[in-house]
Amino acid sequence: MPSVCGGDLHFGEVTNPARPREVVGRFARSGRAEVELAVAAGKQAFPAWRDLGAGKRAKCMRAAAEVADGLVDDLASLLTAEVGKTLGESRGDAGGAARLLREFADLASAADRETDLSSDPASYAATDVLVRRVALGPVVVISPWNTPIHLAFNAIAPNLIAGNTVVVKPPEVAPLALTALVAALAAVLPEGVLTVVPGEGAVAGAALTSHPDIRGVFFTGGISTGREVLKSASETIKKVAMELGGNDAAVVLDSAVINEDMVRELVVGSMGCAGQICFNVKRIYVHRKHFDAFVELFVDLAGHIVVGEGTDASVDIGPLATEEGRNRAVRLIEQARAAGADVRVAGTYADSARVDEGHYVLPTIITGIAPDDELILTEQFCPVIPIIAFDSDDDAIAAANGTEFGLASSVWSTDVEHAMRVARQIESGSTFINVHRLGASVSSTPFGGVKHSGLGRTHGEYSLLSCTEEHAIVRFADPARDLPGIARWNHLRSSSSTS
Ligand code: NDP
Repeated sequence: MPSVCGGDLHFGEVTNPARPREVVGRFARSGRAEVELAVAAGKQAFPAWRDLGAGKRAKCMRAAAEVADGLVDDLASLLTAEVGKTLGESRGDAGGAARLLREFADLASAADRETDLSSDPASYAATDVLVRRVALGPVVVISPWNTPIHLAFNAIAPNLIAGNTVVVKPPEVAPLALTALVAALAAVLPEGVLTVVPGEGAVAGAALTSHPDIRGVFFTGGISTGREVLKSASETIKKVAMELGGNDAAVVLDSAVINEDMVRELVVGSMGCAGQICFNVKRIYVHRKHFDAFVELFVDLAGHIVVGEGTDASVDIGPLATEEGRNRAVRLIEQARAAGADVRVAGTYADSARVDEGHYVLPTIITGIAPDDELILTEQFCPVIPIIAFDSDDDAIAAANGTEFGLASSVWSTDVEHAMRVARQIESGSTFINVHRLGASVSSTPFGGVKHSGLGRTHGEYSLLSCTEEHAIVRFADPARDLPGIARWNHLRSSSSTS
């Protein structure tokens, strides 16, 4: 049984969502003392790591990626035991560490970039201006349980190449695989550059986000936690990047052609990872002309989904990660049914599913639901999808924009011009056309939310903007030259020059 421990710590237990009586491992509930140690180590390591230069940091990151490669299978098994997702999904999550370390190592020259902005001699003051990208200092990376490794490294890797030292706070629901990986990689990096502090969000997390020596907070999680983190970081004015929840709308226009390929995309987009991905499709708006055909095909295709234990190769989606998540899914379904909605349950259980024990929910399709139902206005994070009819583009756009969320969205049509017209009016960080699932946003594309879904953008060079500050070094070519606002001081002369 893996455990992460030390000193007089208290421990938490991680149980398997497919067999909740099975304890997968234990983790230390770190307190302020452990946070102080990790931050002090990061602070001490920072100047040397920053001054090493991005080229040498990239070399260290590639060495760490080699180590991460060798751990993927073990980590994937552990992730499936912690959060219930399929082994394939867990491999994608665990494999993200090495991929992201290499991807950001390749951005070394961008991380160290110095831009010459020497001004036009004819402008008000001829100057030489050098804008340097500089590191922030020690930062904290806080990750959620649904994709703990990939999302942690989505922030760890750009921070490392930028020259920051990183303290990682894993989620309590799934701390084991991420903690084990960070500990293994920390051993091949200079001491203090990367540390991990498992523990409760309200204790270890809050101590990190409020710590005066932490200069950046990279948070991925829910909106309400995000608000707490923002408040906590505000006292010491830290740089904050936030990837928060989503309630993504998919809009199927009257100019769409409804066929198996397009509906399958939306089934995968809404049901993948049992609906527990930030940019899963969470509401589907379908033009009334296509509504019945779309719903029938969706229910038919979702009917082939197999639900069971994530280790079972025949399974498409595993149990929900927590009992709380399952109870919420059941409540949302019952609430909609009680309000008169049409609830259709699809899919089958694999033999591996211990239905009465695990946190299982079959794919559920809900129509005839009120626009202000909780299922429409909040993030369900489960395989329960509302499908709603609309009559005009304006209605669909208003509905898609009608929540506090703005992470991603999609528009579906064979008429690209029509899809683009609608896409331009949707308030979200990404709008996909005729696709909406993992892989739709790649490293060359900025990713993040508008409205309450986040602050800042990740992926490639966009991540570097959050992990660095711009330092402008300005040298006057002609210090004697007048600058606006300085003429009134011209009467100041040294005594020797006036005598
Ligand atoms: P939470 O917001 O509950 O937790 C996220 C992380 O924050 C956990 O590590 C948690 O620790 C920690 N935390 C909790 N309280 C505090 C605090 N006061 N100070 C500092 N840290 C704290 O989210 P979930 O783990 O439940 O993840 C699901 C949410 O994440 C969904 O809303 C989902 O949409 C969102 N998400 C967003 C993504 C994006 O890219 N936009 C990607 C993936 C998920 P602990 O577990 O110990 O409480």
